[in-house]
Amino acid sequence: MIAILKHGTTAEQAKPLIAWLQNMNLDVHISEGQEVTILGLIGDTSRVDAELLSSLEIVESVKRVSEPFKQANRKFHPQDTVIEVGNAKIGGGHFAMIAGPCSVESEEQIIEVAEAVKAAGADILRGGAFKPRTSPYAFQGMKDKGIQLLLKAKQATGLPIVTEIMNIRALDLFADVDIIQVGARNMQNFDLLQELGKTNKPILLKRGLANTLQELLMSAEYIMSEGNENVILCERGIRTFETYTRNTLDLSAVSVIHDLSHLPVIVDPSHATGKAKLVPPMALAATAAGADGIMVEVHNNPACALCDGAQSLTPAQFSELNAKVSKLREAMV
Ligand code: PEP
Ligand code: MN
Repeated sequence: MIAILKHGTTAEQAKPLIAWLQNMNLDVHISEGQEVTILGLIGDTSRVDAELLSSLEIVESVKRVSEPFKQANRKFHPQDTVIEVGNAKIGGGHFAMIAGPCSVESEEQIIEVAEAVKAAGADILRGGAFKPRTSPYAFQGMKDKGIQLLLKAKQATGLPIVTEIMNIRALDLFADVDIIQVGARNMQNFDLLQELGKTNKPILLKRGLANTLQELLMSAEYIMSEGNENVILCERGIRTFETYTRNTLDLSAVSVIHDLSHLPVIVDPSHATGKAKLVPPMALAATAAGADGIMVEVHNNPACALCDGAQSLTPAQFSELNAKVSKLREAMV
């Protein structure tokens, strides 16, 4: 349930109402916009007399929110959430290009790729240190050493970094990481989500391989309900009967999420398609669809990559793509 307060209501005037609602065992989420203040009520609102509430002097209107996601809901927070890391901003009209290898493989590799993507205009560096691989015999990532190398690349280039966490026990290693990624396979690892909700780090939450958009938003809600509202959603393709591409990119996710939620949404065309030649057209399509950012895999030598070489762009291909994305965004305003 939400209560929209009348224009000009002061915090002092709202205080007794908030206390009254909290007394009913409700969590009151306050969203102060330029025009109106919205009180989002979380908990058992069945005992709240909506008519009584709407008759109060400072209350403009009251609405029941039928969706199960509350804090991620645009009705609770009409203005777009903007996530800021370093010089990069994501959401609310701000766009970030995230690029880097699937996995950190060595100091030379990550520094070379970081410098190349920075020169090509990337805003954020990606790189996996903990890799969720289908086979236990495949390269599992450089783990803590990988994070250290990413931090070196951050220092060398000034780019903020995003990297995936698989187990909450590794959280201490992420102290200087700018954005913590929750991969598709962990989208419904609710314990992990709740623990990340207790941090104040931006979380990049990727859509699960076979999850609905409502499930994705409910996973964001797990993070937000613990107090961390810095969530970025990522569409990275879902499983369908199509086998030509690694997954099927659900571009409508961008518009649907923008409709339902205030959280930024980015698109990962690399994992969505699995093929480097499909990455630029899908990145452009995602940009045109209104994505708040793109995340692409870039490798200095894709043929020799330890993971996901087939979907990795070379630095030159990335540079060409980034220039096209920038042109497209200019044309969109
Ligand atoms: C990744 O981005 O490195 C990754 C493993 O992606 P996903 O979780 O979407 O498969
Ligand atoms: Mn990958």
